[in-house]
Amino acid sequence: MRPAILNPLFSPIASLPGVGPKTGKQFDRLLERGAAGARLIDILFHLPHATIDRRERPKISEAPRDQVVLLEARVVEHRPPSGRYAKGPYRVLVEDDTGDLQLVFFHSNVDWIQKSLPVGEVRWISGRLELYEGHLQMTHPDKVLDATGLARLPPVEPVYGLTEGLYQRNVARAAQEALKRLPALPEWRDPVDLKLRASPNFAAALARLHGPEAPADIAPDAPARIRLAFDELLASQLALMMVRARMRDERGRGTRGDGVIAGKILTGLPFSPTNAQTAALAEIRSDMADDKRMLRLLQGDVGSGKTLVALLAMATAVEAGRQAALMAPTEILARQHYERLGPLGATAGLRMALLTGRDTAAKRRRTLAELAAGDIDILIGTHALFQEEVRFADLALAVVDEQHRFGVHQRLALGEKGAAVDILVMTATPIPRTLVLTYFGDMDVSTLREKPAGRQPIDTRAMPLERIGDLIEAVKRATAAGAQVYWVCPLVAENEELDLSAAHDRHADLQRIFGDRVGLVHGQMKGADKDAAMEAFSRGETSILVATTVIEVGVDVPNATIMVIEHAERFGLAQLHQLRGRVGRGSGKSSCLLLYRAPLGEVAAARLAIMRETEDGFRIAEEDLKLRGEGEVLGARQSGTPGFRLADLAVHADLLPRAREEAANILRDDPELRSERGAALRALLYLFEREEAARLLRAG
Ligand code: ADP
Ligand code: MG
Repeated sequence: MRPAILNPLFSPIASLPGVGPKTGKQFDRLLERGAAGARLIDILFHLPHATIDRRERPKISEAPRDQVVLLEARVVEHRPPSGRYAKGPYRVLVEDDTGDLQLVFFHSNVDWIQKSLPVGEVRWISGRLELYEGHLQMTHPDKVLDATGLARLPPVEPVYGLTEGLYQRNVARAAQEALKRLPALPEWRDPVDLKLRASPNFAAALARLHGPEAPADIAPDAPARIRLAFDELLASQLALMMVRARMRDERGRGTRGDGVIAGKILTGLPFSPTNAQTAALAEIRSDMADDKRMLRLLQGDVGSGKTLVALLAMATAVEAGRQAALMAPTEILARQHYERLGPLGATAGLRMALLTGRDTAAKRRRTLAELAAGDIDILIGTHALFQEEVRFADLALAVVDEQHRFGVHQRLALGEKGAAVDILVMTATPIPRTLVLTYFGDMDVSTLREKPAGRQPIDTRAMPLERIGDLIEAVKRATAAGAQVYWVCPLVAENEELDLSAAHDRHADLQRIFGDRVGLVHGQMKGADKDAAMEAFSRGETSILVATTVIEVGVDVPNATIMVIEHAERFGLAQLHQLRGRVGRGSGKSSCLLLYRAPLGEVAAARLAIMRETEDGFRIAEEDLKLRGEGEVLGARQSGTPGFRLADLAVHADLLPRAREEAANILRDDPELRSERGAALRALLYLFEREEAARLLRAG
């Protein structure tokens, strides 16, 4: 059980003053807690990614772009939307002695704008300054203050990632209130080491990060950040080592197939497996046959054919008279796996079923009954597979697709669905060697480097947004010849409302040109609508699919040969690579157009250059690691490392060996964490939600 001292941190965020049911929901979304609900710990770990230094008061002409600034300016004129653009934004022109800029408000409260920005008066205006079509502008300033308001402003203010409907002040207040409830926790770190490094304690570190006194206080290498990043790495390394030790202890069961079902599947295929696929499968089969428990990572770039390897491995389990499960991170992917693998499996006599959160109660009951009776050989689904009531007759192999979206504890939960289940983790994100250990502990790794034969290189080009007219002409020609096009628009939590309206606008633009052969899919659509849009594209009923990054992972439409990525400068390399991997899946010639808004920053230019240069996912992953520490990347919140909330391996990689060493020392001296420090370390495991590992202790 969770130590009682931590309970306040896991109480719902709605229990904080100033957070009502409505803002509570917005926090759930911001902190990616969904229906489970955000807790105090989530807001405490939502660190500011920047600060606004109010001590700086740049003039308009000298103010830095693309960051939040505080400007002193005179209100010149109000420009309400008019004429046929009546639904357009409300603009206000302001100036100082050096220049002017427009404040831009979408769907805003006009009374408020008019009251806060009286013409002729001086105001202090804070927000992100951008250059848009040659003019300086600030969309939705976060503050418009008069002299009294200015006097009340703290000199250095944290800036948080936001989501629709939340403002900086909501997040800042929630963080401050949560800090007040932070209990005094026992120290889990080595006191000598802390003293040596002049490290603050856990509470002091959090307080400093949410209440910086200077911009440097929140830097990735600031003492407070290092303290917390190390705590998180220590928790994860401890958990991985404990899980691994336990798995090693537990004997597996040798699962040997006779190759009959796999043979039938292969006969039904129009191609033969690549050497890399054959080698990976041999490694997996040998692990399965062994009576040790398999814990293997199958790594391969997008399109390298991991799914076939997984299917053949699952066939091996069924040949041995046992069952297999395949778990995907999203509904769309689970369905797609089911639809693709179903026919292949059926010809070989495999009985497959799909289990998702969206099944009707009756269908679900039937599936669960058949599963328990052993009438289903392979179950495919989302994390619905974790649930208590899902019981297998005899589960031999669990395949987890796109692993790093799941945590260690979830992987364990699946492993516990059968006696010594073998686990195969598939990831499409090539992970540099140095990081494999971090995510997966000492897992065995199979790699698919070679791509199936017949793939043509993807023609990748970068072009400025101004040339969109040429691009549309090219798309016209291509779609007339039967090609299909993905058109990706970015969506960032920080400015989701605007981005979403940009995606809608692009969809409308393209519909004006291409009619109803243009579909739209984004993360905020209902599941059924999303599926419908994806399916229409998949069946070729739509030629162009405008999408936010929901199509990022795994989706497979071989006829789609063109990938347009708008605002490519806002995406990280890994994401660009994943997106490009959506095309080039069939035998047709494919292209990827990276549309960017000029001028390009140095890092963004480097990213686009690498994309043009190579399609090697491993090389891209290495470059990504080098570049990611610098400059903000879409979707990278305070931490760019999936699975971690505070540690960012792009900047904290050097802490990792230290954390591993410390974890190993701790477990060597006190494997059951029974000492006083051990008790504190248990609290640490719960704090970072590595509690499945802590639970193993109790059992042991
Ligand atoms: P991944 O999951 O690694 O991204 P997939 O398993 O989805 O890749 O495979 C991508 C495409 O390549 C699929 O359409 C699949 O049928 C096809 N494919 C898989 N293996 C081979 C092969 N050996 N030769 C030709 N095509 C293959
Ligand atoms: Mg896949």
